[in-house]
Amino acid sequence: MTDSDIHICPHCGSDNLDVEHDYCETWLTSQDLPCSCGATLGPAATRSWNTTSYVTEWGPLQEDGVLYFEDSEEVEGDNDDAEVEIECQTCFDQAEESDWEPVEAEPVTFDPDEEKYRVVCRECEQEVPFEWDGRYINLLHEVKEEADQ
Ligand SMILES: [Zn+2]
Ligand SMILES: [Zn+2]
Repeated sequence: MTDSDIHICPHCGSDNLDVEHDYCETWLTSQDLPCSCGATLGPAATRSWNTTSYVTEWGPLQEDGVLYFEDSEEVEGDNDDAEVEIECQTCFDQAEESDWEPVEAEPVTFDPDEEKYRVVCRECEQEVPFEWDGRYINLLHEVKEEADQ
């Protein structure tokens, strides 16, 4: 197998191929509202919500099939409604937005169902079939030709 076998679009013959990687990440944001009236020892209120981002990153297909991304784009999805727990209604009612204090961030979680790799030809805009072995991108030209007999 030579380099040109690996890197040419089976639709138009171009070698202008990009790898695209889509994934989705979700993290939980939590904030506390301190109780300033002394009615409760802990926070007057706690609120938290999930934020989801859809990320696409892309870069030229490398000669050895190793992933390389030079650019990315992030689209923020809708935030879930905040869950609010109130311990001190007085402080909660008087709170300003700036009174809320961030609580340590939860780790980001990935949804594997939303993760996708694509090889796209920049000339003809078509997707190029490939095999992903977890580390390398291998285009499937030979396999396809064998199947056609
Ligand atoms: Zn093409
Ligand atoms: Zn209070």
